[in-house]
Amino acid sequence: MSKNIIIAIDGPAASGKSTAAKNLAETLNLIYVDTGAMYRAITYKAIEAGIAEDEKKVIELTKRMKIELRFENGITRVFVDGDDITENIRTSEVNSKVSDISKISEVRSEMVKIQKRMSEDGNLIAEGRDVTTVVFPDADVKIYLTASLDVRAERRYKENLEKGFNSTLDEVKENLEKRDYTDSHREVSPLKKADDAIEFDTTNLNIKEELKKLTEIVREKISL
Ligand code: C5P
Repeated sequence: MSKNIIIAIDGPAASGKSTAAKNLAETLNLIYVDTGAMYRAITYKAIEAGIAEDEKKVIELTKRMKIELRFENGITRVFVDGDDITENIRTSEVNSKVSDISKISEVRSEMVKIQKRMSEDGNLIAEGRDVTTVVFPDADVKIYLTASLDVRAERRYKENLEKGFNSTLDEVKENLEKRDYTDSHREVSPLKKADDAIEFDTTNLNIKEELKKLTEIVREKISL
């Protein structure tokens, strides 16, 4: 049996990874794995249970939980033990706690196990903070997506407005900056560019231009 193709994208918060991965998944017919949604799901459930500050309990919860991602009509739906929590995982409360929960080594190893297993089901595109370095170090295509903090904050702020979240531009920017710092300075699987990843800065590109260029990068490496 031939090995399934894997495309991996890492980068800081709101750098456009999910938009890119969603579109490539649809264009190239790939399984889409939003690894951030999984860390967000654990964070939401930990906050809901009132145990987000208790590392031992968070680990127990993670081991008990059944997390499932379903990519339907352009949206990643997130299920925990059968319950759809898609609408709950992008609140400011989750935003402000998720990087601390993601520092926990046992939480990460549980997620990595699930993510690796997903690659057995078919050709896949995954995005997150450690997918090019830890989860899929042998991926066929590795991309490190970046954009300036101001542009990322502006994009996320507009997205939030459309979703009806009423955070200010400054609050959005502060959260992105904080998460980037924590994510890239943690001990386990910090966010960093893999040596063999192609770095791609989208600061001056609109979505259409970004996708065109990314599709070219991917098609240069693999035929799908
Ligand atoms: O990608 P997204 O911004 O939704 O990710 C939310 C958070 O989940 C990140 O800020 C990071 O703390 C964590 N994360 C991670 N490893 C990944 C994906 C996300 O630690 N592979």
